Parts: sequence; C-alpha cells; structure tokens
Amino acid sequence: MQKLFKAIYFVGLLAEIILRAPYDRQRRAIPKTDQRVTPAEQALFAGLSAGMVGLPACYSLSRQLQFANYRWRPATSAGAGAVGSMILAASIWLFWRAHRDLGTNWSPSLEINAKQSLVTGGIYRSIRHPMYASQLLWGLAQALLLQNWIAGLAGLASFLPLYLVRVPREERMMLEHFGDDYQAYMEQTGRIMPWLRG
Ligand code: SAH
Repeated sequence: MQKLFKAIYFVGLLAEIILRAPYDRQRRAIPKTDQRVTPAEQALFAGLSAGMVGLPACYSLSRQLQFANYRWRPATSAGAGAVGSMILAASIWLFWRAHRDLGTNWSPSLEINAKQSLVTGGIYRSIRHPMYASQLLWGLAQALLLQNWIAGLAGLASFLPLYLVRVPREERMMLEHFGDDYQAYMEQTGRIMPWLRG
C-alpha cells in the first residue's frame, strides 16, 4: 500500500508539471513590465522544491528517512492514503482550473506582464488565490500519502512561510496596478475560502 501511495504522489507531481507546461511557454513570450522577486522569496521557493520534490524523492527512493515513518495500523494507513488520493485529485483540479482562468497572467514569481489584465471570473469569482489554495490541499494530501513525519509534512512546512510572505505582497502589487478595481474585487472575494471575505 505504501508503495502505491508513493506512486500516486509522483503521478500527481508529473500531472502538475504537464498541466503547467503550455502556460509557462505562453507567458515566457510576453515581456514583463514589473518584476518583484526578492532573495528571501527565492530562498523560500528553493525550500518549496525541497519540500515537494526533494524530500519525497529521498523518502521514496532510499531508506534514509524510514526512522521517521508514522506508526499507523494498516487500516489507518490505507484509509489515510485513500483520503489523501482524493484530496490530491481535488488539488490538481484546482491547480488546472486556476491556470485555465488566469492564462498568460500566471507567473511563478510576482510580476506583471505587458498584456496583464485583472481576472475576476471563473474560479477567481469566489477566491483570489485558488492556486495557493490548491498548494495547501496538496500539502494535506502529501501528509496523508507519504506516511512519514519528514517527507509527509515537508510540503506544508515549506509552503506556509512562502504563502504568508507572498500573499500580502501580491495583493499590494495588484492594488498598485489595478487600483479601485482590485479593491472592489477584494471586497467581493475571500483569499482561499469564498465565505472568508477580506
Ligand atoms: N495568487 C493567485 C495567482 C498566483 S500566480 C492564485 O493563487 O491563484 C501569481 C501571479 O498572478 C502574480 O504575479 C500576478 O501577476 C497574477 N495574478 C494574481 N491574481 C490575479 C488576478 N486576479 N488577475 C490577474 N492576474 C493575477
């Protein structure tokens, strides 16, 4: 079972890489008018790669992290893996939906491009940060699929600091560029949950 859950995790990772590729290609072709990458954010980004890819790979391909495995009964482990798989699927759906709605406005770091427009439709009608919501769901799924205190929790542990630093800076940047339109949009939406406005 553990092997199956590890395989599901890496299939999910591959799915996200494939889903993102065309959007990445499109956005690279457009010149940037504002780029706000800081060294601190780059360091947090490197941490996220370690948390989502490096430590999970180390746990799955070697025995080095075995000492930190959860000590769960087989039924608990199977149940957690099944729930984790469903959450992973929801996370990937949200990831895809956010990319589709954002189109060329998406960027891995904070930036505005020459064709930037404010998206307020699709999934962005209800929440401002579906991609970050998808990442939080991913972290939850990771903790249930990779049943190890280090590899399992590395996703959430590495994303939470990035989320806390990124969101206020991103909203400030959007307010500077889109002014009252973004202000009005903020008043009608929640950050990651539709019913949590503001
Ligand atoms: N925070 C969003 C987007 C992440 S990608 C989410 O979680 O889904 C980050 C880039 O998206 C930012 O650099 C910004 O240029 C762009 N962006 C964020 N919200 C946007 C919106 N509502 N409309 C257009 N572009 C947006």
